[in-house]
Parts: sequence; structure tokens; C-alpha cells
Amino acid sequence: MIDNNSIEQLKQIVDIVDVISNYVELKKNGANFKGLCPFHDEKSPSFVVSPTKQFYKCFGCGAGGDAIKFVMEFEKLSYPEAIEKLASQYNFTLRYTKGEHSSGQERRILETIGQWYRANLERHQPAKDYLKKRGVSLASIEKFEIGYAPGSDATLQFFQKAMIPPQKGEEVGILGHDNGRYYARLIDRIIFPIHSPSGMPVGFGGRTMGDHPAKYINSPQTKLFNKSRLLYGYHLAKESIYRKKRLVVTEGYMDVIMLHQAGFDTAVATLGTALTGDHLPLLKKGEPEVVVAYDGDIAGVNAAMKAALLLSAHNFEGGVVLFSKGLDPADMVAKGDIETIEALIAKPIPYAQFVIDQTVARHDIHTPKGKEDAFHSLKSYLSTLSPFVQEKYLPYAALRLGVNSAMLSGRKQQTGVPDRYNRHSNTQTRPAIASNTPFLTLADVAEESIIKTLLNTPSLTDMVLDTMDSSMFGSRREAFEAFLRGEEHEDLLRIELDDSIIVYSEEELKKQLLYFLQRYYKKALDNIKKDDRLPFEQKIFKIRKYQDYIHRLKRGELVPYE
Ligand code: ZN
Repeated sequence: MIDNNSIEQLKQIVDIVDVISNYVELKKNGANFKGLCPFHDEKSPSFVVSPTKQFYKCFGCGAGGDAIKFVMEFEKLSYPEAIEKLASQYNFTLRYTKGEHSSGQERRILETIGQWYRANLERHQPAKDYLKKRGVSLASIEKFEIGYAPGSDATLQFFQKAMIPPQKGEEVGILGHDNGRYYARLIDRIIFPIHSPSGMPVGFGGRTMGDHPAKYINSPQTKLFNKSRLLYGYHLAKESIYRKKRLVVTEGYMDVIMLHQAGFDTAVATLGTALTGDHLPLLKKGEPEVVVAYDGDIAGVNAAMKAALLLSAHNFEGGVVLFSKGLDPADMVAKGDIETIEALIAKPIPYAQFVIDQTVARHDIHTPKGKEDAFHSLKSYLSTLSPFVQEKYLPYAALRLGVNSAMLSGRKQQTGVPDRYNRHSNTQTRPAIASNTPFLTLADVAEESIIKTLLNTPSLTDMVLDTMDSSMFGSRREAFEAFLRGEEHEDLLRIELDDSIIVYSEEELKKQLLYFLQRYYKKALDNIKKDDRLPFEQKIFKIRKYQDYIHRLKRGELVPYE
């Protein structure tokens, strides 16, 4: 976590006119500066920056705040991310509080090793040839900071020369160790650095150029690197995503790079995992239409089906694009077939339509049994959708299945009341399709106190984010996510105004987190033990993991959320 005094010192050297001038053209106007507001469309300037008050205010849309708030809003960053961004602009070295959160040093190590990988690519002709053969331009190599990892010995020597202790290398996921001997995890691979949404290096992906059975390897999960929540290329795509209100999710790093190269600069990819509920907060940012663009092979279609179920149940706009047999977007760009991609991406198959088509295709609806199975699965799927989307796709589903709409909607004909509207409002009866819905939540009181504490002391956000996922906030999830985005929310206002909700000190917050996380993982442990559907090995793995968490929490260690 960033040390509070350090933040205060940074605030003293940051000048708001300086900061905002990087983004907005400001003109002197009396004691203040004026410009066109970046937060709403306007022709005459109503955006005022006061150097004496170190404050900005828009008289058109009401936006206002200090330099940190501006960077948060403009760059869509969290509070700690905005602080780190400002610190790097001012060459200011932030101090981090002891132990668990000295992420500044780790980021510097990752940056150093990333530069070294890049320099190695320059020296390694086969790697350069490989990229050239795949159609990757020099500009893309530069933009995506692509590098090359040589052998293990060379990597260890580099650490020695750079005077970085190997333990540190292990902490950031570059080295591993076996019988007391360190080794490099990524060997003879093309390197794709992975960044946080704010553009900080957090890990690396490596692709073999030969026929190594593991085509891609990622550096392991570390406290900086949470694979299940990040999207490759997001930091480069972010601005366009907000501007174009569109985001394209692909399956691989090469797809992202080649799509950007062809001008599709809102492309991102999951990090070797399927799209899950953990990705939703990042996907939701900027409210873009989300296009799932996967390979048309069986694995790709299955993955697209899961993504479509998840995204439609969470009310996302968008649809699915499948690339026909054997071709992925990267190949198509390399072949120069850009118009086809453009046409596909412009007209994705809406999620609900895709799910309906796939469900019908997976059953033999010419047999009574097949038709009945398809019927039940579509009926339960439709109930996960918002009433409006449901209304729209019900006739289509009925048509594809060859039944009448009333039957599929579950409408109670005798009363004439369309019960699907009521059922939808009751989340208990919604089938848990593909979504990572939390199975338990903290007591509301505690959630609200945590949120109020963060409203009061935003610098504590880091501590909470490292240990908690927004799903743990239960019914306060929306409020917490609105807080993270710096948006207003009626619950936030209420929490702020309600004097009965306690604000914790830093120390109290830590204590409360330890207490709640213990309770959370104990319940999770109970649920896992009772879960008969889970394969035995996974069950044992999770039981050990949760037991370990509880043990560490009892010793006062805030275990990071994974
Ligand atoms: Zn404005």
C-alpha cells in the first residue's frame, strides 16, 4: 500500500494546471485557466481550472475535483493507480507501507526484466524471423513491447548483474526454484509483457517458437498478477474502448496484436483462461458493446457459448463472432483479409440468438426427448435474461424449437399474469449458469463500514482490493463498484450520510478484514466440503487452499484474493 505521507508529499509537488494541460488545452482567464470540458461535449469552454485552489470545475456538466480526481476520471483509474501515474509523471518515488504491498519495487523489477527481454529480441534473429513470418510489424513489436527470453543461465546472470536478488525474481514470477537452485520460468520463448489496466507491468506470457507441447506459458499468479481478472492489451485498448463504446475479446495474444495492427484497436484477450465472472468489472468499464471473437473450432464454439451465457445473463450488449474453420483473426490479418474481419465484427450474432441457435443445434429436436431437453434448457436460459431481452428473443426461441411462445415463457395461462417478470426479480430462482455468483456474502453492516471507510480514506482502497473481490460485497456490490469507478450511487450517498455506519482507522480496517475473511473462507470451506459435484482432486485442492488461508489469516496475514 502507498504510504499516506508519501501521497501528501506528492500532492504538494503536483500542479493541477500542469497535469490537466497534458490532456486539455487550457487558456489563461484572469486568475484561472479555461478550456473545453473533456467530460462532456461542448463548443464554448465552461471548464475552469484554479491554480490557487488546485481545483477544477465544469460549469456545464458539474465535473470537479483535484488533480488526482481528474486523472482518475480521465484515465479511468482507481485512486492508487492515479497516484502512481502522477508519481511517475513527476519522477516522484512513492513509499509503500512495510511488507506485503511494496509493489513499487516489484514493478521496477518487472520493468527492468521487460527491457532486457526486448533487448534480447534485437539480438536473436530466429525470434525476429518468427515474428516476421507471423506478419507482426516492427511497429507492433514496439507497441506491445514484445521481447525474447533466452536460456535459464543467461536470465540468472542478468539478475546477478542487475543486482536483483533471485528471491525477488521469484516473487515477481520470473524465477522458480528447485532444491535450492533457481531457474528461469520462461526459456527460449517470444515474450509478451502483460500490463494492468493502468499500464503497469504485472507479468509475462511466453510463446514457444518450436513444437514445445506448451505453446503458451504465463508467469505465475503473484500479488501483482491476477490472471483471472486481467485482459491482455487492455491498457492499450482502453481509450478506444471508451470512445468507440466497443470491445473485442479474443482468445490469444497474437490475435490482439494482429487485430490492433489492422486497426481494430479495441481488441483484448483473456490470459489463457476462459472468460469468467471475474472479468466482468473490467469489461463493464465504459459500458462498451462486447464482441466475443473466437476460433470456429469446437473448443472455440464451446468457449463462445459459455461467454454468451455469462455476458447475456449480466445484461451486456454485444454478440459472438466465430472465425471459420482453421482461421484465427491473427492469420486473417497476416493474409490481409481485413474486410472480412471488419464485416464479421460489425455484425456479431447477438448473445441470446447465439445461445438459442447453439442449444437447438446440440439437440436432436426431431425426437420428443431431444426437443424436451432443448425446451427446458432454453426455458431456463431465457429466465436469466432481463425481461426486455427475454421478450425480444422468446418468439425466436419458440420458432427455432417449433413450440408456441406461451409454452416457452412459462406464462400462467389461467391467470393471464406473465410470471416471468416476477420470477426475474427473484434472483434466488435464477439458474446459476456459468456465472461466478458468490455463494455467500459478508454482513451488510460490515460491507457498509468498509465502503464508508474507503469513501473517507481512499488510500486504503488498495488494502481492500488486494484481499476482497467485489462479489464479496453481496448486496452492496454495485455501490462498491460505483465507488471504484468514481461514480455516484444512491447507496454511496446514503452510506456517507448515515452516522450510524462506522468509519474504521487503517488498523481497525485490517482487523475487520482479517475477521471477515476468516468467516468468508470458513463458510467457503463448509460449502466445498458439502459439494458433491466437485471432482475429488479439485475438492482436496480447494480445501487445502482455504485451510491455508484461514491459518494465515489467524496469524494476522491478509491473504490476497485470487
Ligand atoms: Zn463538463
